[in-house]
Amino acid sequence: RGQNSSIPKSNVRVVVRIRPENKLEIDADSRVVVQYMNENVLVFDPKEQGSPEYGYRRRRRQRDIRRRENKDLRFAFDYVFGPRSKNHEVYEQTTKQIVTSFLNGYNCSVFAYGATGAGKTHTMLGSPEHPGVMYLTMMELYSRMAVIEADQTCDIAVSYLEVYNEQIHDLLLPGNSLPVREDSRSGVVVPGLSLHKIAKMCLVDLAGSERATCTKNRGARLREGANINRSLLALGNVINSLSDSKYKGHIPYRDSKLTRLLKDSLGGNCQTCMIAAVSPSSLTYEDTYNTLKYADRAKNI
Ligand code: ADP
Ligand code: MG
Repeated sequence: RGQNSSIPKSNVRVVVRIRPENKLEIDADSRVVVQYMNENVLVFDPKEQGSPEYGYRRRRRQRDIRRRENKDLRFAFDYVFGPRSKNHEVYEQTTKQIVTSFLNGYNCSVFAYGATGAGKTHTMLGSPEHPGVMYLTMMELYSRMAVIEADQTCDIAVSYLEVYNEQIHDLLLPGNSLPVREDSRSGVVVPGLSLHKIAKMCLVDLAGSERATCTKNRGARLREGANINRSLLALGNVINSLSDSKYKGHIPYRDSKLTRLLKDSLGGNCQTCMIAAVSPSSLTYEDTYNTLKYADRAKNI
């Protein structure tokens, strides 16, 4: 078995993380609509309420004649993290597996997708008590490099950026927005942002996926919503065209800054991991359903 046995069969790993209910959701006595079954399966809008062994409280079934039939949809993913999962477990099952590919020269990307409040930033950035995927990945890279450095020289370049209103901002050196360029030798680059190495790893905390059209925002907020939507719509279109094996047309990377940035980290010779974050509560029923459908489609890339 050569080095390549460490490369997983599929290029995209799709995992879902269900966060615990928050106080508001508990106080509202909302229904649990995402039931963790096992490390590969969840049920959306289940017929039966979750059992206490999965961390759910039993609730008296409220009679509501207006209530629609439960969808009772079973979804399978590469991994499902239940409400008690911790950041280091998410890291172990996601990025840790692609660090080896990365050190072997593959471009990698990990992105957190989901509605606002679903747990993307908690997963990616975390907190001092619960460091997230970004921190844990950097620690792993530095310790692996310390080993490699015994017989090779390595350089690491770090960039931390935000795509906001279709503009790229360097969060390590705040200032003007930066352009994206594509270069035949180094692939997609943001001039002025970072050094280039053989391989690139993108760790992305996306903007909230809830539809901008649903918000009643005006002015700057409306523009923000429309641009967030543009990036996420473009990402969805790219994911859809990559996931359709019969599709032979061009992949619409150029439709937004986000997809231009991710162009050489999605599809092709790359390792991608999508972490879809969801709340278990019926208060965010539609957002959760949309996130699960989006994640389900991404499995086919
Ligand atoms: P997002 O970035 O998707 O908008 P956040 O990561 O900011 O959402 O999460 C919203 C709130 O829920 C935060 O207060 C966060 O600490 C909490 N939270 C999210 N995921 C978890 C989790 N798995 N365990 C505990 N608290 C969580
Ligand atoms: Mg966030």
